[in-house]
Amino acid sequence: MNTTRKDFLGLAGVFAAAGCTSAPSIKPPRFKPIEIAGLEPKPDWWKCRPDEIIALCEGAKKCSRKEIICHTPLGYPVYALFYGDFSEPAPQTNWSAGQGSTTYRNYYGRAQGGKQTFYFFSGVHGAEPESGVGAANIIQMLETGKDFRGQSDPELLELISKYRFIITPCVNMDGRSISPDHLRGVDWVTFRHASQGTWKADGSRVGWRGSKSWFPLPLDKVSYPGGYPNSEGYNIMHDACPGDLRTAEARAILNVCSRWRVDAALNGHSYESAPSILRPTGIDYPEKLARGLQIRYKCNKALYEKGLYLTKPEPPKPGEKVGRGINLNNLISLASGALALTLECTVSFDCPWQRPGDKRVPKKKYTFEELAAPPAIVLKEYLKDGLEKPFLNRGPETVYQD
Ligand SMILES: [Zn+2]
Repeated sequence: MNTTRKDFLGLAGVFAAAGCTSAPSIKPPRFKPIEIAGLEPKPDWWKCRPDEIIALCEGAKKCSRKEIICHTPLGYPVYALFYGDFSEPAPQTNWSAGQGSTTYRNYYGRAQGGKQTFYFFSGVHGAEPESGVGAANIIQMLETGKDFRGQSDPELLELISKYRFIITPCVNMDGRSISPDHLRGVDWVTFRHASQGTWKADGSRVGWRGSKSWFPLPLDKVSYPGGYPNSEGYNIMHDACPGDLRTAEARAILNVCSRWRVDAALNGHSYESAPSILRPTGIDYPEKLARGLQIRYKCNKALYEKGLYLTKPEPPKPGEKVGRGINLNNLISLASGALALTLECTVSFDCPWQRPGDKRVPKKKYTFEELAAPPAIVLKEYLKDGLEKPFLNRGPETVYQD
């Protein structure tokens, strides 16, 4: 253990609180953090650095349960904080078997007091801090009544109290540790280099699609891997091949969903356009895809009404298309039956700025408050919808026999 580094990060208390006696060292990253000239200093309330995230989670007292769900390859702890009653024993069966058993209750149980379980995790891509900053504000509000800006959101707190609520502010702590505090105001090319990295041979950008051409990204071929993957080059969002999971981070998210019978999840990211909820990925029960599209509409409408999403969204039409992507959200559905939706916050503008060949000019440069606002806005719509009708019809209460 590198004592100096550990103490600097305040990790001794973290591991003691978690009951860990053999905390792994935090290894130095293989690549230096990217330096981007001219970035504004982050506001003090913008909590995005690994030491800030760890300190926040370490200090949380109002949660009924706190877990380090895994350590990253560099040794950073990944936290889940649990709000509500999480005292029940583990399910006697898994969702796959339980949904086909005598009653879905064999998996789902009865001990949750009738409350559905919601999981908000963010920072699967470490270069994308905005939803994590929003998550940190929500944690601070759950803990103290006010977020890091000193503001409260009684409606959100009331909605969260009607659920069992799990929150992980940053999954990819490795990627976060080499990423800037934010990318506000950067041009699109720089955004891509910071996100998906730079090839060593010619200095060209790896690119969003290019990064997906490898699993893992070949770290010996890049001068910078971007904050997208973890420190072994794995894109956790696409660590979604059953039977060949490569990252502790993806495994941990799936374990949380399975163990605690998660009903719905919000997967927080950021991209280069106006913030929005993406279409649900298309491998799921048709009724759940329709529900996901409806919730997406409500969330995007709320973002539009707050002036963050600039095109008025239309309600989903019959036959509305769903996403073609295959990613961690699909495995979450398999792990616990949950509806899982991706939120993309924006890093700066409502459309890519200075993307080669793209003539669009952004209408809006988002303030720091606006960059971090989407999680709370969409969570309210998402949680309200689940109270109108359970997220998933898991099956009849009748006990079937063979
Ligand atoms: Zn992402």
